[in-house]
Amino acid sequence: MNEALQVKEERPDIRELTLAEFERAVVGSGERGFRARQVMGWVWGRGAKSFEAMSDVPTAFRNYLKCNFKLGGAPESAVARSHDGTRKLLVALGDGEAVESVIIPAGERTTLCISSQVGCAMGCEFCATALMGLRRNLAAGEILGQIQAARRYLDAGEELTNYVFMGMGEPLANYPRLARVLETMTADWGIGISPRRITVSTVGLVPGMERLLADFPTVNLAVSLHATTDELRDRIAPINRRYPLRELIEACRRLPLKRRNRITFEYVMLREVNDSASDARRLVRMLAPMRAKVNLIMFNPFPGAPFEGSERAAVEAFQAIIRQGNLTATIRESRGRDIAAACGQLYAERGARRD
Ligand code: SAH
Repeated sequence: MNEALQVKEERPDIRELTLAEFERAVVGSGERGFRARQVMGWVWGRGAKSFEAMSDVPTAFRNYLKCNFKLGGAPESAVARSHDGTRKLLVALGDGEAVESVIIPAGERTTLCISSQVGCAMGCEFCATALMGLRRNLAAGEILGQIQAARRYLDAGEELTNYVFMGMGEPLANYPRLARVLETMTADWGIGISPRRITVSTVGLVPGMERLLADFPTVNLAVSLHATTDELRDRIAPINRRYPLRELIEACRRLPLKRRNRITFEYVMLREVNDSASDARRLVRMLAPMRAKVNLIMFNPFPGAPFEGSERAAVEAFQAIIRQGNLTATIRESRGRDIAAACGQLYAERGARRD
């Protein structure tokens, strides 16, 4: 090629593409299909920051890639570190918005908590992200960019082992992008993560749950339940008016779970709101016929939150009742509260927005 390279203005970010899509473009350009896999290997396996760096790719094809695709490295980010080892990242997006992601070490595991939207439209009364409203969906590349960003803040010898979609946003309200992300995360041409190490948490968007498990049968599902009556759930998690408890629980019962899989039900413990013995007994009756486990979450306060967390004794009494009902019940301790990185405290604002 002698002429100057014609770099297209509007070129897709390669992180947005699945292998099949990229292969079509590659073959369309006259190159052989196997080059697509080779390039994806550079992007996801070796973390190449430019097409130039792909030394075993022919120069002419590298030029084609440069003109037709973008390849961003890890996005810009800043980090705050908790005394418990939790790290909260503020990850910058191209348009001046930002999202938060959290690295949570616990024993042998290091979990990355990923955001799926800027803000959230679900309006849960106990969650700080709800106060932002929904600003926009994240693109697949922006969701995956959080993994690239997080890798920069790992300690020596530390590796990400688990991934939870429990950051800002409702992942199933951004399903097309989530599906792309899950494909890239789990594919051998992508990041190659076992789907068993990935959990998608939802406030209970029934059609999305069904689709997720049809498309990714071995990904773990967590459902944010938080209440055992429609009266209360309508108020604290208003999506309940669209998918009320009976419909939600019936959908959960019908989900095609793989052999060893169980659905996790998350339940944030709110003092004198949902933490009584009768709440616990109703929860057992609701979940007992299912392969379910319950994760009791300590409430994490944020400025203006209209709730208080339950007393420790109330949480333990609640846990005991669930266990007597032959369900597994764990207590999720707060992590990273000192840096407002705990569940429900994510509210990206600091310095990242330009308006
Ligand atoms: N939208 C998804 C995922 C994000 S929230 C969902 O609703 O599941 C991840 C978990 O943190 C959810 O179970 C959510 O209900 C919980 N959470 C939200 N605010 C909280 C708070 N202030 N304290 C403790 N947990 C909270």
